[in-house]
Amino acid sequence: MDKARIAELSVTDRANVFHPSTHLAQFARGEAPNRIITKAEGIYIEDAEGVRSLDGFSGLYCVNVGYGRKEIADAIAEQANTLAYFHAYVGHSHEPVIKLSERIVRKAGMGMQRVYYGMSGSDANETNIKLVWYYNNVLGRPEKKKIISRQRGYHGSGIMTGSLTGLGLFQDHFDLPVNVIKHTMCPHQYWNGMDGETEEEFSQRCADELEKMIIAEGPDTVAAFIGEPILGTGGIIPPPAGYWQAIQKVLDKYDVLLIADEVITGFGRTGQYFGSHTYGMKPDLIAIAKGLTSAYLPLSGVIVGERVWKVLEQGTDEFGAIGHGWTYSAHPMCAAAGNANLDIVDKEDLPANAREVGGYFQQKLHETFGDHPMVGEVRGVGLMAALEFVADKDKKERFDPSKKVGYSVAGACLEEGLIARAMPHGEILGFAPPLIVTKDDIDTIVAKAKTAVDKVYAAL
Ligand code: PLP
Repeated sequence: MDKARIAELSVTDRANVFHPSTHLAQFARGEAPNRIITKAEGIYIEDAEGVRSLDGFSGLYCVNVGYGRKEIADAIAEQANTLAYFHAYVGHSHEPVIKLSERIVRKAGMGMQRVYYGMSGSDANETNIKLVWYYNNVLGRPEKKKIISRQRGYHGSGIMTGSLTGLGLFQDHFDLPVNVIKHTMCPHQYWNGMDGETEEEFSQRCADELEKMIIAEGPDTVAAFIGEPILGTGGIIPPPAGYWQAIQKVLDKYDVLLIADEVITGFGRTGQYFGSHTYGMKPDLIAIAKGLTSAYLPLSGVIVGERVWKVLEQGTDEFGAIGHGWTYSAHPMCAAAGNANLDIVDKEDLPANAREVGGYFQQKLHETFGDHPMVGEVRGVGLMAALEFVADKDKKERFDPSKKVGYSVAGACLEEGLIARAMPHGEILGFAPPLIVTKDDIDTIVAKAKTAVDKVYAAL
C-alpha cells in the first residue's frame, strides 16, 4: 500500500475506531503506534507497509491452525450461500451446529452433555455464572451464589467476567469486581511460594487458602470456583504439581461446582484436546472459544456436564423454558467454521504437535534463557510459554514497573520480526504460537527472542 494511503487510513483510524486495551488519548494524539494489518499466511502476518511478522501469539492465542486456511474460508462461504443465519431458539437447528456439538461433547468426555453457544469467551463465562445461579435456585439454595476466582485469573472483561478476572487493569475505575465474586491466591510458586516448600506442598497451601475462604464466606454461600487449567493472561502460569487434585478435594467437600475456563487451552494447546484432560480436572462447566474456530469467525461455548444438566432439565420442568438466549447463539456460519477448523485439528493431529513441538519449545526456552541474568523463570506447557524478567535473579527482585521491561522486550521482538506479548501483570513475555509450528519455526522464535532480550538487557 502506498505511504499516502497508509497515512490517510491511519488518520481515519485514530479519529473513528475505539480500540480495546489501548491508551485512548495517546492513540488519538498519534503518540501510540498504529499498525494496519493487510494479510496473513501460515504463521506470518503482513502490514500495510509490507512488513512481515512471525505471529508468536496466534493473534490472541486463537489462530491455532494458522492463517489463510482455504478449507475454513470455503466452508464459511458455502454456509453463507446456503443458510447464512437462522436462530436456535425453541429447538430450531441446522446441520453444522448439530455436527459441531456432537464432536465437542464426544471429544470432551468427562460426562459432558450439551453445548450452549455464544460469540466470545466473556459471554461464555456470563452464561456459566447464570447457569450456576439457576442451578442453585432450582436446588432450593438461593444463598449459594458466590463465585471464587483467582488473583491474576482472566475470564473476560464484561461486568461479571471482568469481576471474575483478577487483574486490576480490567477493574479499576469500572467499579469492579461486583461483590459476589471473591479472589483466592494465584498458584504462582515463583512469587508466592515459601522457602523450601515443594510444589506439592505449595499446591496444598493454595487448596488450604481456598478452604479457608469458603469457610470464612460460609460454605452455604459459595456456588462455584472458576479457573483456567493454565493461568493465561495473568502470566501463563502452569499449575504446580497436584494443584487441581488438591483444589478438587476442597470443592467436593463443600459441594462447590468447578468451571474450567478453557478459552485458551481448549482444542489442543496444552498437548491434549482439553487442558482438563492434561491436568485430570473434573469440571462441571467448561468455557470454550478461540481455538474452536481458530478465530476465522467468532464462536464460543459452554459445555455443560451431567451434574448441572440434570438440574437444568429439572428447572425447566418446574419453571418453563430457560430465559437465556443470544440472537447469534449457534450461528450456522460460525459453526461451519468450527467444523472445518476442527477437521484440520483432527487431520493434522495438532494436539500431538503441541505435545511434540511444544516439548521442544519448552526445552529450547530453558536452554536459551535458563541462565540468563534477566530471566527469573522460564515456564510453560505445550505451546504456551513465558519468560519472567527480574532485576536481580539471586535476590528475586522485581524491576521497577516504570522501566516497562516486558513492553521493551516485546518491542525489541517486534523489531526482530517476532510478535510475542508483554503480559499485563508483571514483567512477562508470553508466547502462544499457532499449533501448526514446526521445530524450525521454534528455532526462529527462540533466536529472535534471544536477540531481543539481550538487546534490552544491554540497554538497562
Ligand atoms: N477466558 C480466558 C481464559 C481468556 O483468555 C479470554 C480472553 O483472552 C476470555 C475468557 C475472554 O474471551 P473474549 O475476549 O473472547 O471475551
